[in-house]
Amino acid sequence: MFEIKDVDLAGRIGRLHTRHGVIETPAFFPVIDPVRQELPVAEVRSAGLSQVLTNAYLLYKRTGGAPVKVHDFLGWDGVVMTDSGAYQILEYGDINVTQDEILEYQKAIETDIGVILDVPTGNVPRERAAETVEETLRRARAALNTIDPESDETVWILPIQGGKYLDLVERSAREAVKLPYRMYGIGSPTVFLEEYRYDVIVEIIYTAKRILPGGRPVHLFGAGHPLIIPFAVALGVDTFDSASYIIYARDGRYMTEYGVYRLEQLDYFPCNCPVCSRYTPRELAEMPKRERTRLLALHNLHVIQKTVRRVKQAIREGRLWELLEETARRHPAARAALAKFRKYYRYLEAGTPTAKGEVRGVRAYGGESLWNPRLLRFQERVLARYQPALDGARRAVLEPLAKDSPCTPPGEGEYRAYYDYFIGVVPWELCGVYPSIHVDHGGPTLEAARHLENALIAFIHKLLKLGVEEVVVKGPAAALLARRRPPKTRLEY
Ligand SMILES: [Zn+2]
Repeated sequence: MFEIKDVDLAGRIGRLHTRHGVIETPAFFPVIDPVRQELPVAEVRSAGLSQVLTNAYLLYKRTGGAPVKVHDFLGWDGVVMTDSGAYQILEYGDINVTQDEILEYQKAIETDIGVILDVPTGNVPRERAAETVEETLRRARAALNTIDPESDETVWILPIQGGKYLDLVERSAREAVKLPYRMYGIGSPTVFLEEYRYDVIVEIIYTAKRILPGGRPVHLFGAGHPLIIPFAVALGVDTFDSASYIIYARDGRYMTEYGVYRLEQLDYFPCNCPVCSRYTPRELAEMPKRERTRLLALHNLHVIQKTVRRVKQAIREGRLWELLEETARRHPAARAALAKFRKYYRYLEAGTPTAKGEVRGVRAYGGESLWNPRLLRFQERVLARYQPALDGARRAVLEPLAKDSPCTPPGEGEYRAYYDYFIGVVPWELCGVYPSIHVDHGGPTLEAARHLENALIAFIHKLLKLGVEEVVVKGPAAALLARRRPPKTRLEY
């Protein structure tokens, strides 16, 4: 039902099989109203989307429970996910339909991906959050009397709850994996998205993902902002949904990959989608509200879709970390999210292939680049497990790695290693091993210099332990070591 085709960090490109076709993930599901579509589904399709999410509870209410086929009803031949009314619970309190009714209904309307009637946590006191976790689990177990997640044609999502209380998220995930669901959801981060608390969202995702089985797809509810998508995918989220594209549009808000504008704040559209190519902000502002909403919604969808495609391309290239760094520079909230990623290094490193088919350079921009698993992994291995091939040498020379001149073997009785700010120390015999000589950067930063200083000291101690009697450090790193010069080390500026 779910195949993983490519990976980078903990992100993946996958194929999710449903009864109405296959979608390639990561995939964004725009939320559409089952009855009143401000943006017609044909236009959703025109923005390159082949999947939507609609609300089974609203459909149930508006059709009086008639088991219409949801695809026919929407006029949509792609994949349909239905939410069960959880959002309405979050907004309006309890709803007057039982879980069994809404599960039977989702089956009857032939939804492709359905959700149990979970209780979203939202931003509530801890005690209430714990209740939502337990109640959601109770319903997940009870639902098994009505649905069979292992063999139903509908793929059933079990949402993980707990909100910002990470121990509750952990409990929710640990209990969830004991149940036979094939797909999981991460519940209700919407409140934190609205407050630009991306750091909280990435913590929630990481906490759940660490426990959920890697081979199963995971949905993130309510996330449809270009700034959060790269981070969510990098942690292993496969699908996500949101109504923000239309909610923002109604309110005259225009999404970009670096934040949201009000239409009247814009003199120019920084976008080439069909809407922005054709109209100016002023023309759009002067349109009747209905028309303006439709066009802004279409633009917003294009921006989200463009972000998803960029993330996929970055996974293909093995440059998802670089994309996160770029995204982090677009908004302080994104930067706070990336700062959290340092804590997740082991998890991200485990999913990062050493190299992909075609060798592409690693790009380093600043302090965050040092945590790029491709770079840090190389240096960790050199410093931890690696035994330099000394061959009896008693003298070692450390030189700067020059991009244009190849590493040369050392002379008789000598050992040689190279260094660079972002990769650290490269023993000459590992020169050429990816990514030793494949790092592109525009010069050192303070953090990179500190990183190199520590790496050099650790490496020199390693050499001394192995019997080297003299180490010579040449080039700019000599200055770095002036304050903390290791024993038997000569610095040649
Ligand atoms: Zn546009």
